[in-house]
Amino acid sequence: MQCPVGAVQFRVSDPNVESSVTTSNMNQIPLQDEVLVLGGGVAGCAASIALARKGRVVTLIEREPTPRHKVCGEFLSGEALEDLHVLGIDVASLGAVPIDYVRLAAARRAAQAPLPFSAASLTRKALDTALVAEAIAAGVRVERGRSVQALARTSHNKWQATLDDGTTREAPTVFLATGKHDLRGHTRPEDPQRWVAYKMYFRLAPGQAAELARASELMLYPGGYGGIQPVEGGIANLCCVVQQRHLARVGYRWENFLAKMQQDCPHLAMRLSGAEPLLAKPIAVTHIPYGYIRRTSEDGLYCVGDQAAVIPSFTGDGISIALHTARCAVAAHHAAEPAPLFQAKLRSALLAQMRLAEFAADGLNNSVSRAVLPLCLRVWPGVMRVTARLTRVAQHTAVAPHAVSS
Ligand SMILES: Cc1cc2nc3c(=O)[nH]c(=O)nc-3n(C[C@H](O)[C@H](O)[C@H](O)COP(=O)(O)OP(=O)(O)OC[C@H]3O[C@@H](n4cnc5c(N)ncnc54)[C@H](O)[C@@H]3O)c2cc1C
Repeated sequence: MQCPVGAVQFRVSDPNVESSVTTSNMNQIPLQDEVLVLGGGVAGCAASIALARKGRVVTLIEREPTPRHKVCGEFLSGEALEDLHVLGIDVASLGAVPIDYVRLAAARRAAQAPLPFSAASLTRKALDTALVAEAIAAGVRVERGRSVQALARTSHNKWQATLDDGTTREAPTVFLATGKHDLRGHTRPEDPQRWVAYKMYFRLAPGQAAELARASELMLYPGGYGGIQPVEGGIANLCCVVQQRHLARVGYRWENFLAKMQQDCPHLAMRLSGAEPLLAKPIAVTHIPYGYIRRTSEDGLYCVGDQAAVIPSFTGDGISIALHTARCAVAAHHAAEPAPLFQAKLRSALLAQMRLAEFAADGLNNSVSRAVLPLCLRVWPGVMRVTARLTRVAQHTAVAPHAVSS
């Protein structure tokens, strides 16, 4: 554990956990936190851990009192697994299910191909819980159950976050990691397609669970796509996206949408036959600006995770990008690279993969592609391998100051 400065114990909002920022010299404690991290999901926790390990005094503010289910396919790509390992997260010990295959199903066809990298799946609740615990162990002061309402520049060149209880936190540097949720004054553009995403857990019938086994299945239907894959605890995660105008046709009702997906994609109907839904209702989220990459930022404001870039969900690469952007932002901050420069460099590093992923996503939403893609996969499984490789954020696409000249 890295303890930058010595013996003061901060109590976090969750009474069961105690953080461990300590100092050997009380006079060295800054009156204001050195770095504020807003949002304690993948990107926020990853940035906090890395910052604390570099000796920074970090305060992480997360609005949820405890980790909860999030809308996510919960697929962990090879890059994500590598980054998590470096952060000290052992996904296998958390029960992650190895994923070896990807299966593509559209209309009445389905085909499979082996994944070109090792992958796994793990519920976000388990992953986020482990990340927060690791942040606390690294010495991060975690304030849970506090929502940031506003973030503004003060006259003395600091950032001031105003919390829902009216209190404020100030720091010269802020990492913005609020994921899908925008802060006023720091919003991302509209989502013109008006995507709606759902997640539901099922206990599949034993035969279907055995057939799903170690595969991630991608299902195509008019207006969107969905994925089903096993997660820990012997259950399966169905996560899907649909454009609002298609949802309108089924009266904006989950039951109707689920029935329509199964009608359009009999493979899903087969998977879900005899399945038991495990949540009272699905978790849903709207406003997903796929393809967005932040152009610039302001001094001292590093934007990471979904606040930096939003890759189409079918790639299963959002968590990897969240980890990658957090790692690169911490390296930039450590090298005193100004946030606007970092953000611009990050954008150019991510641009090619993002455009390719968008291009592929458009293809998935096209009726001709839906008809022929599983055939292509059957004839040439390499299609999936190539797509999977090209839409990945390669680890070497670093934007750390030492790796890319400005
Ligand atoms: C339908 C769908 C399926 C997906 N499937 C996958 C997949 O299979 N694999 C994959 O790698 N990626 C997937 N993604 C993408 C992935 O979920 C995100 O890219 C990733 O979670 C981004 O991490 P983050 O840390 O930016 O945001 P999050 O993990 O969402 O964390 C943001 C945190 O900020 C907190 N917060 C928000 N507002 C405030 C506030 N005002 N004050 C304080 N805290 C706040 C939230 O409570 C949250 O904990 C999917 C996305 C969607 C929409």
